[in-house]
Amino acid sequence: MFFDPTYILVIIGAVICMVASGNVNSTYNKYSRVQSSAGMTGAMAATRLLNYVGIYDVRVEHISGNLTDHYDPSSKVLRLSDSVYNATSVAAIGVAAHECGHAIQHAKGYVPLQIRTAIVPVVNIGSTLSWPMIILGVILGWNRTLIQIGILLFTAVVVFQLVTLPVEFNASSRALTLLEESGILYHEEMKQSRKVLTAAALTYVAAAASSILQLLRLLLLFGRRDD
Ligand SMILES: [Zn+2]
Repeated sequence: MFFDPTYILVIIGAVICMVASGNVNSTYNKYSRVQSSAGMTGAMAATRLLNYVGIYDVRVEHISGNLTDHYDPSSKVLRLSDSVYNATSVAAIGVAAHECGHAIQHAKGYVPLQIRTAIVPVVNIGSTLSWPMIILGVILGWNRTLIQIGILLFTAVVVFQLVTLPVEFNASSRALTLLEESGILYHEEMKQSRKVLTAAALTYVAAAASSILQLLRLLLLFGRRDD
């Protein structure tokens, strides 16, 4: 095997993701020890916020695991993890409110979320098949069609991660506005909750940056092989 200098881009991407992930974990740990003065659990805050904006058909459920919280648009269920559902910290309430932000995006037909949901099937194919296509293309005597399909599939993954950014930032900004309006968190608690949500959003930025670097690598490796 020859040394592939473009691999440095993959390593840079991996380091960015590790830093972002370490940052969200430490920020979450820090503020999961700060109890909110309202004493509401994540689940209670979620239900209260949903009702506050007039949403009554979204169920709030418990899901096992750590940071597995998500809103499922297909079944209209908001699932909160162990460290959020029954926890009363400013971190837990922030995450619960963020997931409510997704439920509100869904209810209001927020366009970036619709685009994101619509391209999920293509992205699933893209993330599974892009590398096998490229490798097969290389094995079959540098077959340009296969390699180009592989790169195109990978581009779909990058597009997905870019569309995810406005969806995530918007959910957090809705969350913080609602937490303040509804009086669930007070001024100082708002700032702490904001730090948790910002750290979480940065993991999506890191993932997008890392995929862009990988795409750049693919283009450097295969882009100019026209001979
Ligand atoms: Zn989110």
